[in-house]
Amino acid sequence: MNIVRRSFTALLALGLLAGAGALRAAPLHVVASFSILGDLVRVVGGEDIVLDVLVGPGQDPHGYEAPPQAVQRLARAQVLVENGLGFETWLDRLVGASGFRGQRIVASDGVPARVLAATDDDHDADHVHGDGHAHAAGAVDPHAWQDLRNAMVYVRNIAAGLARADAAHAAAYQRRAEAYLAQLAAADMQWRARFAALPVQPCVAITAHQAFGYAADAWGIDFLSAAGLSSDAEPSAREMAALIARARRPDGIVGVFAEKGTNPRLVRQLGREAGVIAGGWLYSDALDAPDHPAGTYLGMMAWNARQLLAVFE
Ligand code: ZN
Repeated sequence: MNIVRRSFTALLALGLLAGAGALRAAPLHVVASFSILGDLVRVVGGEDIVLDVLVGPGQDPHGYEAPPQAVQRLARAQVLVENGLGFETWLDRLVGASGFRGQRIVASDGVPARVLAATDDDHDADHVHGDGHAHAAGAVDPHAWQDLRNAMVYVRNIAAGLARADAAHAAAYQRRAEAYLAQLAAADMQWRARFAALPVQPCVAITAHQAFGYAADAWGIDFLSAAGLSSDAEPSAREMAALIARARRPDGIVGVFAEKGTNPRLVRQLGREAGVIAGGWLYSDALDAPDHPAGTYLGMMAWNARQLLAVFE
């Protein structure tokens, strides 16, 4: 009897040990809300996390409708990384439905948030994205990642949050974050120097939706858009006329840029009617496919900078 009991106890101990070992070795399961944030998390988390991105490359986070699988993916996660600043209007509902009890990291914590500019036309300011994401004048602009200096704040928050959730790998998160921060700082200095040296001012870029306010502050470019135009909304004749009038400036250079994922016909028409330079496309709220130059955050920022400089330099 004694031998049986002892063996049983030994087996139980082995089982517990194996369980504990598995728990230690298992990578942290992290969910990021959208592709741009996902890339920052991927770099900092490295091999110590399993990453799941809800709104993938080429998908619009504004109009996101979470599929049932998203609930299950979030239910399994230990950490959720979100942009904040009111960007993921759909996220709280998803968290509630999934029963997620893990740690939430708000990547934008501490960035100097800017407020969306009003347009000439009050009626423009009430445009609402498909899911009810309002880009109303006076609301906080959520697109803070469009300034590399803000992405550095994101990376610090992500590293600190991952270290809190997984203390065993804190040093690795910190090490990867430091290396990445050096790259981000170098890119920030490089591009800001190029924009500061532009020969003609002001430089005005017309885009579809109001997503580049932070880039405007960082690079000294004026961005114009019919406020909050979502990818599927057509501007009225009045809105077009207002944009064209604002684009016809006596001084400076005006370029018009399509946004990846939106219909370029609109900005081309604007370019023709306002007689301004048609530039390439810009990335606002999603990365491109992983094998594309704009498939990473740094690649996306370099792409956007080059498209703008190609017109303004
Ligand atoms: Zn947006």
